[in-house]
Amino acid sequence: MATKAVTMEKLVALCKARGIIFPGSEIYGGMGNTWDYGPVGVEIKNNIKRAWWKRFVQESDNSFGVDAAILMNARVWEASGHTTSFSDPKMDCKECKSRHRADTLIEAHSKGKVNPDTMTNAEMEAYIQEHQVHCPICGKFNWTNIRTFNLMFETSRGVTDESQNKIYLRPETAQGEFVNFLNVQRTTRAKVPFGIAQIGKAFRNEITPGNFIFRTIEFEQMEHQWFCKEGTDSEYYAEFKSKAWQFLLDLSFKPEHLRFKDHDKLAHYAKEACDIQYDFPMGWSELNGIHNRTDYDLSRHQEYSGKTMTYIDPVNGERFIPYVIEYSIGADRLMLAALSEAYDEETLENGEVRNVMRFHPAIAAYKAAVLPLQKNLAPQAKELLAKLKKHFNVTYDEAGSIGKRYRRQDEIGTPYCITIDFDTLENGTVTVRDRDSMDQVRLDLGGVIAFLTEKTAF
Ligand code: ATP
Repeated sequence: MATKAVTMEKLVALCKARGIIFPGSEIYGGMGNTWDYGPVGVEIKNNIKRAWWKRFVQESDNSFGVDAAILMNARVWEASGHTTSFSDPKMDCKECKSRHRADTLIEAHSKGKVNPDTMTNAEMEAYIQEHQVHCPICGKFNWTNIRTFNLMFETSRGVTDESQNKIYLRPETAQGEFVNFLNVQRTTRAKVPFGIAQIGKAFRNEITPGNFIFRTIEFEQMEHQWFCKEGTDSEYYAEFKSKAWQFLLDLSFKPEHLRFKDHDKLAHYAKEACDIQYDFPMGWSELNGIHNRTDYDLSRHQEYSGKTMTYIDPVNGERFIPYVIEYSIGADRLMLAALSEAYDEETLENGEVRNVMRFHPAIAAYKAAVLPLQKNLAPQAKELLAKLKKHFNVTYDEAGSIGKRYRRQDEIGTPYCITIDFDTLENGTVTVRDRDSMDQVRLDLGGVIAFLTEKTAF
C-alpha cells in the first residue's frame, strides 16, 4: 500500500467527521468491535448491498433470494457443526488479563510468514514458547494454555426458567439458504444448477482487535450458494472465483490491490477453497471466501432433520444431493475495502490538498449535490432537487462558498455537483462538476436525469 495515502486512522477520522461510521454506543464509552453507520454510511452500505444483489440475483440466471430468520432451531447448528467446532484458540495474558487468539499472535509475530491455520493447538503453544511471543498489550510473557471458545452468541427463549431453551444468534447466513433449499426449488420450479442468495446479519463473539469494521461482533454477510451436480462442481467453483473477482473490478477496485489465496488447510467437508484478499490499510487480508462445500451441508441437514434433501432431476428422474459452491462476502468488510480504495489526497495546482473519495458512482451515498450559487437561487435549486429526488438519492447544500461546498462533497464521494446560477434563470442550463476530474460542463435542466442515470449505473 506504499503508493496509497490511506491509513486506518485517517479512515476512522474521516468516517466519524462526515457521518459515515461512528463508534458504537459512543456516549457510554463505546463497546469494542461495534460500529454504527451514520447518514452517509448507511447509504453507501445500502448501495453496496444493492450492487451485489443486482449482480448475483437480478442479473444471474437461476438465482433466487431469501431472507431467513436470524434465530434458528438449535439443531441447525448441531447439523452444521457450529456447536462443536466453531471456535477460536484463545490465550489469556496472566499479567494484564487481556485475551488473544493464538493464531493471530503467531501471524503478527512472524509478520505473516508462518501460517497458523495448519498448526494444532500444541504446535501453536510450542511456537509461542519457542519464539517468546509477548503480550501485545502489556509486553509481558506469561500466558495461559490455549483454550477454545465457541464464537456463537447464546441466548434463550421462553418466559419461565423451566421452559428456557438455549438458542443462538446465527454466526453465518448460509444455513438459512441450506434449510430452504427444497422450499426454493419447489416454489420456483428451478432445475439444478441454481442459486440461493441472502444478505443478512451474522454474529460472532470475536475477541480479536477489530481493525475498524474489518472484524466486528455483528456484521452483514452477502452469501450465494450454488447448488449443482457432483462432477460439475469444480467448473462452477472456477466460475464463481471469476464472478467474485469481476464484481470487485466493476466496483472500481484496482486489480493490483486484490489477490487470490488458496486455503492451505481445507475444512474436512471442503474440496476446494480460496479467499480473495484485499490490500487493506493494515495489510493483505480476506475480503471474501469461495468454497466448494461438496454435499456436506445438505447431507447433514438430511441426517439431522430426518427430511430428505434429495433433488429429483425432472428429465431423467435421477436422484441426488447437490454439491454447493459458496461465495460469501461481508458487506461491512467490502465497505472498508471500498472506503480504502476510494480514499485519495490530491495535491492541486495551487498546492492545496483535497480529500476525495473516488467511489464508483453507484455506491456513492449521493449521486449528486444540488448547490445554488447564491442563497437567493434556492427556490430554483430546490425545484430541481425535488425532481431529482424521485429518481436518485441527492443532497443539497447552500452554506459557504461554492469551493468549500465542492470539497465537502468530494470528502463523501458525491460524483456530481450541480450548480444553479444566474444563467439557469436565463437559459435553463446548469453547471455539472465532475468529482474526479473537477471538469465542468453545462447541461440543459431537462437532461440532468438522463445524465445521472447513465453516469451512476452499475
Ligand atoms: P476470518 O478468517 O476473517 O475470520 P472467515 O473465514 O471466518 O473470516 P467466513 O466464515 O468465510 O469468514 O465468512 C465470510 C465472509 O464474512 C468473510 O470473507 C468476511 O468478508 C465476512 N466476515 C467474517 N467474519 C467477520 C467479522 N467478524 N466481521 C466482519 N466481517 C466478517
